[in-house]
Amino acid sequence: MSLRELSKRAILAGSRRAGVNWCLRTALSHRLLVLCYHSVIPDDCPERPCTKCVVGLGERACYRMRDTIKVGEFRRQLAVICRLFRPVSATDVLDHLERGRPLPLRAVLLTFDDGFRNNLACAAPVMLRMGVPALICVVTDHVGKPELLWPQELDERIFNWNHAKLPMPGGQADVVLSDEPPDRCRVADRIRQFCKRLPNQEKITYLNRLRQDPLSAEEQWIRQLYAFLSWEEIRELDRSGFKIGSHTVTHPILTTLSPAHLAAELRNSKAAIERELQKPCPCLAYPNGGKHDVSPEVVAAARNAGYRMAFNLMGRPNPERLRPLEIERVSMSGKLSEDGLYARLNGLIPWLS
Ligand SMILES: [Zn+2]
Repeated sequence: MSLRELSKRAILAGSRRAGVNWCLRTALSHRLLVLCYHSVIPDDCPERPCTKCVVGLGERACYRMRDTIKVGEFRRQLAVICRLFRPVSATDVLDHLERGRPLPLRAVLLTFDDGFRNNLACAAPVMLRMGVPALICVVTDHVGKPELLWPQELDERIFNWNHAKLPMPGGQADVVLSDEPPDRCRVADRIRQFCKRLPNQEKITYLNRLRQDPLSAEEQWIRQLYAFLSWEEIRELDRSGFKIGSHTVTHPILTTLSPAHLAAELRNSKAAIERELQKPCPCLAYPNGGKHDVSPEVVAAARNAGYRMAFNLMGRPNPERLRPLEIERVSMSGKLSEDGLYARLNGLIPWLS
């Protein structure tokens, strides 16, 4: 374990023991906490094949599972969340924003990005049993299709690249790829981050260059982690009381799009959800949701598309007076230690960063 990771752990443990978590939770009790999960996988899902490939991803053991949490761990985290906070629904938050209805102290809203099938199979039963509402944001072009989201597909194609040289994005020279899984992870991680800043069409062109071979036999394993909900399954979640939101049509980085493309991504995904569910879709989660992925132009486009509530993923605490189209969320991980979980829930992470 690196010195940085060791000192982080010591700080998290020390601050919990010293009561810093409790103080922060009390100080922030009037501010809405919003958590973001992605894929919730069965407990017996194997962590293969590169469990040792930690590539600067902190507490996450394997980069291919970075957006997953095992259902047993999800249940454990939810028990802590329900003990320390009061779960509210997206409708409660909308009522608060638009009708001034107060939220309870220490209100927490759960959200899920990308629309993975296991949100219905694994996460929903746990949440229904515990009485926890959630907002599930789907990528409408992927609904019901046997595809991978572009960041996961990029990772898989680089990890399984079977030729001497790997093409690089952005006009960079091809590179010779090592066969060592940690090296491949590092390269995939770097290229994925680079592609997030490329104009969208350039990213698609690059991905197409990598699509010359079929995906490997491990495709099934990856699909198990990241398979998408169908519309019928989304309707089932809706009937069970979960709120369905938009996560755009194709999950592009919205700041890399032309104004017309940006408007189409926001409007068309909203329209598809409203058509399929026969009800309004007021909620949006910005793809990636970091500070480079959400700009004033993106927020204005979300407003023009008719969204009344939109979420980023910058990990900061919300202000007491919520900004409806810039609601802050905290990213949750399946690999959090006990101290790490408390620090994340109580708003300690931005202070440490
Ligand atoms: Zn996403």
